Amino acid sequence: MVSFCPKCGTEKGPFVRGFCTRCFLEDNRLLRIDRKLILPKCKRCGKILVRGRWLEENADSLLKFILSKVKWSDVERPSLAIEAEHTGKGLKIYLNVSCKVEGVPLSTSYETFIQYKLQYCESCLKISSSYYEVTIQLRAEDKAKIKRAIYLIKDVLASQLKNDTLAEIVKMIKRKNGYDLLIGSKKAAKSAVAELKRKYKANVKKSSTLAGLTKDGKPKVKYTYSVRI
Ligand SMILES: [Zn+2]
Ligand SMILES: [Zn+2]
Repeated sequence: MVSFCPKCGTEKGPFVRGFCTRCFLEDNRLLRIDRKLILPKCKRCGKILVRGRWLEENADSLLKFILSKVKWSDVERPSLAIEAEHTGKGLKIYLNVSCKVEGVPLSTSYETFIQYKLQYCESCLKISSSYYEVTIQLRAEDKAKIKRAIYLIKDVLASQLKNDTLAEIVKMIKRKNGYDLLIGSKKAAKSAVAELKRKYKANVKKSSTLAGLTKDGKPKVKYTYSVRI
């Protein structure tokens, strides 16, 4: 018995549900995905929101996002690789799909488009509304020394910004003999103070104040470092 594809007439197998693989793929999708996907992206740090978490944008996180939007048809051993191409408004995504149907290996590709929706991630929202955890009261008699110390603090914070988006000076207030620096992240401020201690043998006093309660009823504490260099 000679089998052939009822659509194109080829006798060249393999056949899937009676059709050659080319005709089968023309009429059947291996997966469904919307033509356009909206992806929240932080306009400050560039992280993307995938399954409720803010992640660095890279090949892994984009694949995770795409997989969360894919609905597979009834196929065996599905696997998916993506390629992304930046365009003005977002990303063109090519989905290279392979799987088996009735034991026959199939592969094809589809396209979708990711449109960014720019907003702030939670940390950047805090920074943008001048949220801070720590005040460093930096004091010295010498103005040039203050300036150098501020550069040092900025360097320490910048080195941590990638992992700690709150590692930033949100406000600088000029005081007599120095500045008050309001800093978003407790942890980053602590390492900046440690660096001041190391470099200037600074005299440091730490104090804390209760600044109300968080939404879930925990005490909100703000720390102050008085640093004399
Ligand atoms: Zn055919
Ligand atoms: Zn952000």
